[in-house]
Amino acid sequence: MANKLKPARRVETLPPYIFKEIDDRKRALTATGTKLLNFGIGDPDLPTPDFIINAMDREMRKTTNQKYPAYDGCISFRKAIAAYMKTRFGVSLDFDSEIMALIGSKEGLAHFSWAFIDEGDVTLVPDPGYPVYGNTTCFSGGEPFLMPLLEKNNFLPDLSKIPDGIAKRAKILFLNYPNNPTGAIAEKESLQAIVDWARKHEVIIVYDAAYAELTFDAEDRLSILALPGARDIAIEFHSFSKIFNMTGWRIGFAVGNKSLISGLLKMKTNVDSGVFEAVQLACAQGLEQIGPFLEKQIATYRDRLNEMKNILTHAGFSFYQPRGTFYLWTKCPPKMTSAEWTLKLLEKGGIVTTPGTGFGKYGEGYVRFALTQPQETIYELESRLKNQLGNIHD
Ligand code: PLP
Repeated sequence: MANKLKPARRVETLPPYIFKEIDDRKRALTATGTKLLNFGIGDPDLPTPDFIINAMDREMRKTTNQKYPAYDGCISFRKAIAAYMKTRFGVSLDFDSEIMALIGSKEGLAHFSWAFIDEGDVTLVPDPGYPVYGNTTCFSGGEPFLMPLLEKNNFLPDLSKIPDGIAKRAKILFLNYPNNPTGAIAEKESLQAIVDWARKHEVIIVYDAAYAELTFDAEDRLSILALPGARDIAIEFHSFSKIFNMTGWRIGFAVGNKSLISGLLKMKTNVDSGVFEAVQLACAQGLEQIGPFLEKQIATYRDRLNEMKNILTHAGFSFYQPRGTFYLWTKCPPKMTSAEWTLKLLEKGGIVTTPGTGFGKYGEGYVRFALTQPQETIYELESRLKNQLGNIHD
């Protein structure tokens, strides 16, 4: 009987989700009275803006918004997304066939794998990268082929290293810029070369744009769909989580090639029932104010980044200069693994970070700091590094 209570092999063989492991350690330390400084998971500390909360307050009271929502999202939401994609990214989309709502982009990415990967298909997965791409490939019976993202290549994949046999079998290429965990961005020319390669090899591009709005230079804000040829093969996943500090609300959207959107929709129709319509309408209204709101958000992250860079440089750290996201990808001290260094920061300083290896084997040698903490916590980090850890090279 005990055997039958075990989950299926596809669940049993999954590596433990990294953030869950860190959570367990954090809980144990908090129980001993240690006050933790949480630079771990990328969950913004700032509140959801009032203009969204007020819109939600109005919309959730309307009986019509309390019913099962449309699977692909309500028309007002999809029209608002079409207008948003045009204004912010210069991409014109048909709201009816090229846009759909998601219960967060994570859900969309996972269901996309399930909808498009057959047994034995290969997916090209960036490493380090968001763990969902590789794990859901395995879930779906596919085989991830890792594309190392190396600092010497500005954390872009080197497609010339993909063997012909793998390129032939590849069904999906996952990309994510601005990139979690490195903070790198992809410039148009590099992305265009990837689009051309994918078209030549008939590979779908899944472009994870969860941080598309979080670039320190507005020039770096980019949708892959704006590039010639991309719409033949690409689907792009966006999220409200990071731009409007709405991680708990669960809303995102997918845009791109019609066949890819309709395949994903067909899968989702059978597993969920859409995004709460009041949330969609609150977001649709919120998008009208995105420009000034984001300018302030990005200014806050820029200030925090500068502060963190000073503090960490002082303590002997080195790091990659991020051009987007709210992460700082820092190098471990010599002869220490990511796991050892993460643990030392946690146990000696109560400082929570994420080990680079949580994002794949090419994350070894790095630790990620999330800039999702207020200035006071950043000052406290300075004092703990000085008093409890000292210079990291000592
Ligand atoms: N993609 C990347 C690269 C992420 O870092 C995250 C969340 O951390 C997501 C997607 C998922 O975001 P959400 O499901 O909240 O939209």
